[in-house]
Amino acid sequence: MINIYFAAKPASWAEYETPLRTALDEIGVAYTLSASCDVPEKIDYLIYAPGGPVSDFTPYTNAKAVLCLWAGVESIVENVTLKIPLTRMVDHGLTQGMIEWVTGHVLRHHLGMDQHILGQDGKWRLGAPPLATDRTVSILGLGALGTACAQTLAALNFKVQGWSRSKKQIDGVACFHGEAGLAQILSNTEIAVLLLPLTEATENLINATRLAQMPRGAVIINPGRGPLIDDATLLAALDRGQISHATLDVFRTEPLPADDPYWAHPQVTVTPHIASETRPITAARVIAENVQRDVMGEPLLHVVDRALGY
Ligand code: NDP
Repeated sequence: MINIYFAAKPASWAEYETPLRTALDEIGVAYTLSASCDVPEKIDYLIYAPGGPVSDFTPYTNAKAVLCLWAGVESIVENVTLKIPLTRMVDHGLTQGMIEWVTGHVLRHHLGMDQHILGQDGKWRLGAPPLATDRTVSILGLGALGTACAQTLAALNFKVQGWSRSKKQIDGVACFHGEAGLAQILSNTEIAVLLLPLTEATENLINATRLAQMPRGAVIINPGRGPLIDDATLLAALDRGQISHATLDVFRTEPLPADDPYWAHPQVTVTPHIASETRPITAARVIAENVQRDVMGEPLLHVVDRALGY
């Protein structure tokens, strides 16, 4: 019997219980699944999400893995009580949502939609928007989400560039990596999309130097994590016109406080960390597949590299 503890936010149990039971029933292992836990040493797998009841994993002495429902694991990756494998979420539904959010916001800036949506002032302004073939979009982070967004934008004929830690080859995407690659990619980026994890190496990556490396008037879209950006330098770059607009979904403090300067800045769009989210039905299948793999002695999918932090 496999005992699984749903240690995510109690409020999410209602939407996850049925999809998880359905997916676990399909893999055909005998299991118990509960959102409460009286005997931690009997637990085999913990399903985890930030804001849940577990921060000390020490009592779960027989647990084999912690299966995170989120793609971003910065809130757990440095937890010293966690000594067993940690997996993160790579979920078709989450990816699809991110593709749609990123594509929508890229198209808004590419087409200059605000001019017409917000400027209904009786003036007949001539001039069609440019074609995607003439627009360079750079995706920083070529993981599960970044690659999917890059491929979708490439399919729309954008000139797509991507940047990652290790070298990559993706059809239709000019791939760069490492420090030198970053300067190169930023130098001709008109729209930058940040889909990096938050780690020691990526915190404040978008700082004064990097913003200055971008062409004047570039746009930043950040659905990654707030601390990827040095906020004060971004605000200064927006004020100078070096950056023409920032669309931000994630912040150092969430919810973003009502008096944060981002809210009031005319060149900033704030969205409340809604770019995408894990979808219970597809995510439950990923969790069940990992339980099944582990039970069968096969390697877990989407294991976090604790040293790299993602
Ligand atoms: P992955 O782990 O699949 O991909 C991360 C990418 O970032 C990889 O390409 C990796 O490079 C690259 N990377 C990591 N560190 C560095 C570095 N120091 N320099 C250059 N590249 C680096 O993550 P996902 O694509 O699944 O998710 C990305 C992030 O999106 C999550 O961590 C989370 O923060 C955010 N997110 C936001 C959501 C929202 O609603 N706003 C929803 C879901 C996720 P390499 O390929 O070489 O390893």
